[in-house]
Amino acid sequence: RMAISGANGSSNSAVRRKPPPGKRRETPPSSDEESWEQHSSEDEDQEAQDIVEIMNKLPKGVDPQSARQILNDIVVRGDEVHWEDIAGLEPAKKALKEAVVYPFLRPDLFSGLREPARGMLLFGPPGTGKTMLARAVATESKSTFFSVSASSLTSKWHGESEKLVRALFGLAKALAPSIIFVDEIDSLLSARSSGSEHEASRRSKTEFLVQWSDLQRAAAGREQSARDKKEGDASRVLVLAATNMPWDIDEAARRRFVRRQYIPLPEHQVREQQLRTLLSHQHHELSAEDIQVLVHVTEGFSGSDITALAKDAAMGPLRNLGEALLHTPMDQIRPIKFQDFESSLYSIRPSVSSDGLRKYEDWAKEFGERG
Ligand code: ADP
Repeated sequence: RMAISGANGSSNSAVRRKPPPGKRRETPPSSDEESWEQHSSEDEDQEAQDIVEIMNKLPKGVDPQSARQILNDIVVRGDEVHWEDIAGLEPAKKALKEAVVYPFLRPDLFSGLREPARGMLLFGPPGTGKTMLARAVATESKSTFFSVSASSLTSKWHGESEKLVRALFGLAKALAPSIIFVDEIDSLLSARSSGSEHEASRRSKTEFLVQWSDLQRAAAGREQSARDKKEGDASRVLVLAATNMPWDIDEAARRRFVRRQYIPLPEHQVREQQLRTLLSHQHHELSAEDIQVLVHVTEGFSGSDITALAKDAAMGPLRNLGEALLHTPMDQIRPIKFQDFESSLYSIRPSVSSDGLRKYEDWAKEFGERG
């Protein structure tokens, strides 16, 4: 699935946030439904206009159909993410601010020796907040955000994937500053796809690496030719990638990621912070001691496991109501209790085994930074 969500207020932000085509956003920004409708259609008009404008000054070598495909598949998944929405991960936030956000906001300060890296890899167990971090970076750096899952580049558009990769980078340059976020990067850059693997995925891998090298060359301060300049600012495009399987990335591709940031499972105080945040707007009866017990028993849970647990426990008061659910007034629904969490713990288990975890720790020790 490919998404570009627009950036956010900067003058060259070409595409604005909007509800996905055919889908309504769940929470309108105002309680006034009518003004939202109006707002939404104005936004869409503006967006259509923006797309026409981009298509008119499409960089050379970019296939218009592929560009359109990228621009049209605009999906905004939920609301903006900010740093404070993400529990813990302070070293990763710090690294991302220094490597991406500040350089994008103050390009004048970050040149020469301070030239930022063109690529950063976020790796770690699934559900630990890698996607959230990427979305927060997009929000905070006021850049155009292209979000693409690597498997869609290699499988979905047979034969077209090379053109799509080229269009992706072409548009990113044209709309710079931009971030290209590639989820499941392992499926694009795996060692296997260089062998006898499917021709299409091998070609999109090669194209991706070629395009990315061009960015790195531009960033290294080489003179951009006049033609390049006209095609956008390559020095303000960054590839941010995430993977749950860092060991699948082939060695040459791995070395291109100058920065490799480990996103570990949440530690004690991070799990506590997350549980408190999840419970903060809920009607519940958990004491401070109850929360300590939960923090203790959720050792080994990822952020998404903890979210799943809290969501399941929150259903507790509604279960067993049966049909009565339909007419019980809100204030007569009982609070969430510790026992709800206890029962949910039977079904919601950590998604990473301790063996699996060791594999991440080993890879991090050998190739990663913990910050
Ligand atoms: P990943 O990309 O690492 O697989 P995501 O960023 O998609 O994981 O996280 C999945 C879900 O888990 C999030 O939508 C959020 O509900 C929860 N989550 C994971 N990590 C955190 C965190 N550090 N703080 C708050 N919520 C988290």
